[in-house]
Amino acid sequence: MGMRILAIAAILLPMIAGCTEKMQETPPLLPLPQKAEYSNGYFKIDGTKDYAALAECCIDEALSGTMGKEGYQLEITRNGIKINAAAPAGIFYAKKTLKQLTTPDGVRLARIEDRPRFPYRGFHLDVSRNFFSKEEIMKLLEEMANFKMNKFHFHLTDNGGWRLKIEKYPLLTELGSSRRTQDWFDWYVNDRHFCPEDTEGAFGGYYTREDIREIVEFAEERFIDVIPEIDVPAHSDPVFAGYPHLNCTGTTSGNGEFCPALEETYRFIENVLDEVMEMFPSEIIHIGGDEARKVEWKKCRRCSALMEKEGLTDYDQLQVYLIRRVHDYLKAHGRIMAGWDELMKDEELTDAWIYSYRGEKHGIDAANRNIPTIMVPGEALYLDWWQADIDLEPIAMGGYSPLHKFYMFNPLPSTKEEAFANELLIQSKAVENIDSVGVIRKGNEKYMKGVQGCLWTEFVETEAHLEYMTFPRLLAIAEKGWSQAAGAEGWKDFTRRAGYQNAALQQRGIHTFDMHDAPLITAIGQADKSSRVSMTCEQYDGEIRYCIGKGANLTANSTLYTEPFHITKDTDFTAGVFREGKLISYLRKTTIEAGKDKYPDYPQRWPW
Ligand SMILES: [Zn+2]
Repeated sequence: MGMRILAIAAILLPMIAGCTEKMQETPPLLPLPQKAEYSNGYFKIDGTKDYAALAECCIDEALSGTMGKEGYQLEITRNGIKINAAAPAGIFYAKKTLKQLTTPDGVRLARIEDRPRFPYRGFHLDVSRNFFSKEEIMKLLEEMANFKMNKFHFHLTDNGGWRLKIEKYPLLTELGSSRRTQDWFDWYVNDRHFCPEDTEGAFGGYYTREDIREIVEFAEERFIDVIPEIDVPAHSDPVFAGYPHLNCTGTTSGNGEFCPALEETYRFIENVLDEVMEMFPSEIIHIGGDEARKVEWKKCRRCSALMEKEGLTDYDQLQVYLIRRVHDYLKAHGRIMAGWDELMKDEELTDAWIYSYRGEKHGIDAANRNIPTIMVPGEALYLDWWQADIDLEPIAMGGYSPLHKFYMFNPLPSTKEEAFANELLIQSKAVENIDSVGVIRKGNEKYMKGVQGCLWTEFVETEAHLEYMTFPRLLAIAEKGWSQAAGAEGWKDFTRRAGYQNAALQQRGIHTFDMHDAPLITAIGQADKSSRVSMTCEQYDGEIRYCIGKGANLTANSTLYTEPFHITKDTDFTAGVFREGKLISYLRKTTIEAGKDKYPDYPQRWPW
């Protein structure tokens, strides 16, 4: 009898424990999967850390209709792990999810069906203004893959130096890849000359063919396309250090732009692209096409003669002429040309890809013209802008783009309200007339291919600083590119997951920015002359408290912020973030004017 009672108790006890066990927290997956159900408990095998190796994987091409090439099903039960996908990329991403589900207790029991929202989830890195080693590039590629990002936009040439060895034009790197000063700002303002690569103490560098092969291979293994950018016709100072005859003046004086009227210019670009296409299998080749000032073109007799011959009536058309020739060359070689949104000046353009960097407008226009588009608005998604307060942070290009702004930007604005909300982030104030904002037409959403964070490195000299500017903000790009849009209601949970993943990045040796603790206070003016005030911070478990009035004393008993509210007169706020009754941030003081919009901003540092 006694034995029987014991036996029953042994069966009942775990069941009772199971019933009273608290619901476990949702795992901090980033990006958020499309569909996930979790059960309490774990699949665990003692001594195992690499659960991906234990997964039973099955590729079934018939699944591509429902999950595409990158989607997957992942099931973790107490008996084991099963992955189904239509292609190897799906298996790869399922394993990335598995890794994020792994804890010291084992892998969380889950059933996940997942696929990306956009086919393009990118990170852009400028290695021209400052050069970074291939080892650092690979470190970044590894982290991109961890967060299911799949396009690395490699900005290889610009005014800071030429970074790609071209066999046919050795002077590009011999004379155009090194400077006597690393400080780009100082160099750009005071010198702007390159020095031979063997100059003692010179700063610079470039990638050899072998380096590129290694980088491309490393990326391919992680399902990342490396998209090279060779920027023409502007931003080409380093070319003229060795080949001055290719610009209008025939000098190295640094006007930075090719002469579009020289056949030699096209021969050069085509020869360079031949080698680029040999090195990079990417279907998309980025040719820049941005920020041509055309100052020398206007004084050049050859340029005038070409315009007359071709019937071109202005200098924008002369640029279109050059870009079209480059486009045709790439097309003839089976590649797709991509460029910054100046390419939209060509009204007949259809089969190039556009990167909308000057706000959202050009991206919306492009998608509506059936042109594949990537959203990279500088004002919202550039990683060289300040991510926290100007007086506490290392030098940045300017402007203010905290994690919140990255998260809130909507790459697919299909209603006036969504486009309007984007403009508040882009302009730091609301647009006067909501009807002036375009939207992506119904049916044209498919031309919005995705989203990208861009790091320009004018002020970024070290690997630590590079990582600091990139993370955690790139996590918001990863989320935006993969997950369904959640908007403001998703932000709080995003800070939980991003906080967790940011700490994981730090454990993996990435020098990230710590999630900011100070409150962000924004306002949107209303038609009735009131303002709707919102407060947030990047600390998931932080409480924001505020008080009103100049000289007001903020304490742990001050008003707790819970949701947006309206003010009807100009109001001085003092706010801070508390945890367990203790102030953990410095105080944020700001004045919100009734009826006015406010998204904090900082001045730009552009020297041009
Ligand atoms: Zn010219």
